[in-house]
Amino acid sequence: MTAALIDGNALSKQLRSEVAQRAAALKSRGLTPGLAVVLVGDNPASQVYVRNKVKACEDSGLHSVLEKYDASMSEADLLARVDALNNDPAIHGILVQLPLPAHIDAQKVIEAISPLKDVDGFHIASAGALMTGMPGFWPCTPYGCMKMLESIGYELKGKHAVVIGRSNIVGKPMALMLLQKDATVTICHSRTADLKAQTLQADVIVAAVGRRNVLTADMVKPGAVVLDVGMNRNDEGKLCGDVDFDGVREVAGHITPVPGGVGPMTITMLLVNTLEAAERAALGA
Ligand code: NAP
Repeated sequence: MTAALIDGNALSKQLRSEVAQRAAALKSRGLTPGLAVVLVGDNPASQVYVRNKVKACEDSGLHSVLEKYDASMSEADLLARVDALNNDPAIHGILVQLPLPAHIDAQKVIEAISPLKDVDGFHIASAGALMTGMPGFWPCTPYGCMKMLESIGYELKGKHAVVIGRSNIVGKPMALMLLQKDATVTICHSRTADLKAQTLQADVIVAAVGRRNVLTADMVKPGAVVLDVGMNRNDEGKLCGDVDFDGVREVAGHITPVPGGVGPMTITMLLVNTLEAAERAALGA
């Protein structure tokens, strides 16, 4: 069997055009959805990420503001900027690009963002909302994975999902989202005794580790759905995921490629969250 590809670029295009339509509808009522992206320092990867986020906003008709600050910015000054953005009616979503310079407490900055504008979904209130099934913003990467499963009409109820990785931004929220859709969920991590024994039982596998070839063909049940969140470089310096794509695609039922899989979905879900924040603001929520 050769797995069907879940194309993150194609799905993103479709979702972004829906965002553009909803943004235009809001604009016609006098409200333009706005995202503020805050970058402190000159980390080259972060500069690329923020540029892509701002461009994606522009392409979908969202207003965006990029605030760039020197790496020497004090924590107090950054908190003051976040406070100003919290109170800016033109801004519905605030994203502080991580990592922050070492002298700034990133968690403190995230907690300073209003949960109503926390479109990255990293605030403790957003995490609590996800855990308890209350309305809130879901972290963009696992949210994008859920949209990918939805796009193939996958019914999670009663299925066994294995998430490899337990970070606060991918693994843990991913597991909670799958649980919310009635999957039986196993979370694996670096101390898991026998990863293969777990993954072989899975109907759905999400790999979010940051290590090449964590998942190989012999670890996958025939027909399983495999979502590859990892972003690594291979020996030729090319972007690759955590999954041995060539091997696993011969066993899996569906698989996401890297690049062109989960990656584009992450920015797309940021746009969706920003739009949602603006729609909630329009309702006076
Ligand atoms: P992270 O915070 O470093 O977490 C990695 C997780 O993998 C940890 O829970 C770790 O376990 C686990 N792990 C490490 N080695 C393992 C092994 N041999 N077997 C099983 N589990 C193992 O990373 P992250 O932020 O979640 O990101 C994970 C990957 O996704 C990275 O490659 C990152 O670049 C990528 N990513 C991609 C996107 C996207 O848009 N496509 C977005 C975010 C992240 P312990 O907890 O025990 O240490």
